[in-house]
Amino acid sequence: MRPLSEKKNFYIFLLLLVLLIFLSFPLFSGEQSTQNEEIISFAREIDLKSLLERFPLDPLMSDGQKVYFLINKKFLSSIKEAGYNFAIETDRFDLGKDQSISKSLHQQGGLNGAYHSYSELGSALKSLAAAYPAICRLYSLGKSVENRNIYALKISDNPAIRENEPKIALLGCHHAREWISVEVPLLIADYLLKNYIIDTRIRNIIDSEEIWIIPLVNPDGLDYSIFNYRLWRKNRRLNSDGSYGVDLNRNYSFAWAYDNLGSSPEPSSDTYRGPRPFSEPETLSVMNLLQNNSFTAVISYHSFSQSILYPWGYINLPTEKEQLFQQLASAMADLIYQVNGRSYEVGRASASLYLTNGDFTDWVYGFFQIPAFTIELPPVDLIHGGFFNSEEDIQSIYKENLPAVLYLMEWAISNFTPQPNFKPEIEPKLEKITKSMVKNKGDFFKGKEN
Ligand SMILES: [Zn+2]
Repeated sequence: MRPLSEKKNFYIFLLLLVLLIFLSFPLFSGEQSTQNEEIISFAREIDLKSLLERFPLDPLMSDGQKVYFLINKKFLSSIKEAGYNFAIETDRFDLGKDQSISKSLHQQGGLNGAYHSYSELGSALKSLAAAYPAICRLYSLGKSVENRNIYALKISDNPAIRENEPKIALLGCHHAREWISVEVPLLIADYLLKNYIIDTRIRNIIDSEEIWIIPLVNPDGLDYSIFNYRLWRKNRRLNSDGSYGVDLNRNYSFAWAYDNLGSSPEPSSDTYRGPRPFSEPETLSVMNLLQNNSFTAVISYHSFSQSILYPWGYINLPTEKEQLFQQLASAMADLIYQVNGRSYEVGRASASLYLTNGDFTDWVYGFFQIPAFTIELPPVDLIHGGFFNSEEDIQSIYKENLPAVLYLMEWAISNFTPQPNFKPEIEPKLEKITKSMVKNKGDFFKGKEN
């Protein structure tokens, strides 16, 4: 038997050894990789199918000659070895990657400027609900992975009652880095509420229709994009392989996992569809709202590329309502064009460069057969800023989208067939947000990593 002090020294040595080994490895290797991406481009003629099947590329855009992707640096050598020619384009775009600048800005509280973080949005929605109690109610559809609210503002002449009226839902920010997609539905809500008394057109819409505004489907992702990594896209689920995030707009149940082109089975991929449909509380919250209400039309705002897309996205075929969707989308695009002269392309989601499966609009049409649009807000491409809209963009992008959404709201009213034997009831299964449930600014850093 060794003397006690020798035994003690041995344990101290063992402890130090374990500590040393532990510290030599990055704690969150999956996490660090997200700071480690490059934008690469391929010639337009490349065989996209085989490329996307082999590598977890995050499609960004096409400019006619080249197609651009975001990719983790660790795959660059294997893409090259597989015989693909690509160019690294990261330096052409400002990725806002300078973490030291981010850190100091975020201590000053100004990182996201005029764009709303989760808690700023909560305050804004709470103020609207308090200012217009007769025509709106703020609800939470559920909680995110990190326990943030999925806010939903219901605007109606009797907001606490579920009435026999057409319903329209406007959603924003399935994808964290698409900050402008929070602002547009929020400003639309603000406009409707402010103009109810003074504008007969708006009063008629609110009196005849139930409008649900869900500006932030992905609150955890948005705050992560603001405070940690600007190009973050997914939610903040910790996956089984240690990577983070499920692409919420690939997690809906219609044609989920139809192929590996429109979504990825790889957890570390930016288009990871999750282990099963509705595996994420964020998509589940949206599902509950749509299944418990009979909606007439929906818009899901995204950025970027200036387009109005409709199903199908999972396969390049028209739905039975192609003609109607084409007509509504074109009418909206015309109204948008009249405001600032910006052209939004119109078409089936699948006719654009990339297929998608498990997305929100395919699910809405697949299950409810109603018009479901993805509006990709400006800019038109990566060269013009990609996901990085300036603060000055907010008003002009919102203003050009306002007439289009009012048009769809009125279309919903004139094409509504009241349900027979409908009994109005109090909005059930939804949590009404009270003052104490809205988080304060100081709660920004409650995420897992901070
Ligand atoms: Zn998006």
